Amino acid sequence: MNINRYTICNSPIEEKVFENRKIYIKRDDLLHPNFSGNKARKFYYYLLQDFLNIKKIVSYGSNQSNAMYSLSVLAKLKGWEFEYYIDHLPNYLRNNPVGNYKYAIENNMRLIIGQPKPKREDIENEETAFVEEGGRQELSRVGIKMLAHEITLWQKAKGIKRLNIFLPSGTGTTALFLQKSLLEMDGRFQSIVYTVPCVGDSTYLNLQFEMLEPNPLKYPTIIKPKKKYHFGKLYEESYNIWLKLRDKLGIEFDMLYDPIGWITMMENPQIFSEPILYIHQGGAIGNESMLARYQRKYSENI
Ligand SMILES: *Cc1c(COP(=O)(O)O)cnc(C)c1O
Repeated sequence: MNINRYTICNSPIEEKVFENRKIYIKRDDLLHPNFSGNKARKFYYYLLQDFLNIKKIVSYGSNQSNAMYSLSVLAKLKGWEFEYYIDHLPNYLRNNPVGNYKYAIENNMRLIIGQPKPKREDIENEETAFVEEGGRQELSRVGIKMLAHEITLWQKAKGIKRLNIFLPSGTGTTALFLQKSLLEMDGRFQSIVYTVPCVGDSTYLNLQFEMLEPNPLKYPTIIKPKKKYHFGKLYEESYNIWLKLRDKLGIEFDMLYDPIGWITMMENPQIFSEPILYIHQGGAIGNESMLARYQRKYSENI
C-alpha cells in the first residue's frame, strides 16, 4: 500500500459548473483509493512517525462509519491490532457484510459489541492508541492543517483574496480545525468556512465544537438546511442531487453528508458572493450500502 506522509497530500482542486454556478472542488477523495477524505487528513498524524511501541489501536462508533474503515486500513498498514466498539450488530449486516463494515472486517478489525463506550483514560497506554469517535480529537488537527495549507497556497496562486469554503459536518472536527488553521495563515488572504450539521442540529454541532475549542470566534459559520434531515435516512431529493452531481460533474460524492451539503449550499446564494471551494471529504466505500438502499426505494431512477 502506497500510503505515507508524502502520498497523502496535495489533492487536486477542480473547477466545475453546477446549476450555472462556478464551484471549485477540493478532491480529497482522490488522496488514495483506500485511505482518503477527511479521515485520511485526521489520521495523517499516525503517518508521521513509526510509533514503535504501539501494538493496538482502539476506537468506537457506528457499524458503518468511514472512520472505522480508515482505521482498519491504518492498523493493517502499521501492523497494529484494531479493536472497535459498537452498540450492536444487526443480523442482516453480520450475514450480508457490505460497505465499510465488510472491508474493515477483511482488514481484521476485532469488534466488541454491546459494551459501554470505552474511555481514553481506561484504554490508552504505551502500547495502545485510542481514537475518539470519528477522529474528534486534537491530534486530527495536524492533518487538517496540511489541508488548510494546500488551500492557502492554491488561493495565493489564483490571487483569490477572499474565499468561501463549504463542507458538511458530522462531528464538526474537520470544519472547526480547517477554520482555525486558516485563521492562523497569511492574513492578506481570508477564508470563511461554512458548514451544515448532518448529524443532529446546530446546537449539537456547537457542542461538538466546544469539546475541541473554547473560543467561539474561531468556529466555522453554521448554515441550517431549510428542511430537517435525519442522519442516515433516505430522501428522494438527496438521491436526485447525488445522481445529478455524478452525471453532470462526473464526481461520485458520499451519500450521507454530501447531498445535504450540496442542497444547503445551493439554497444559499449569498455564499456565492465570493469564489467558493467545496471540500470533497471522501466516503465512496460507504456508498455501497447506501446505494443499495436507495436503489431498492427509488429503483426507477437507476
Ligand atoms: C466523516 C465524514 C464527514 C464528517 O466529518 P466531521 O469531521 O466528523 O465533521 C463528512 N463527510 C464524509 C464523507 C465523512 O466521511
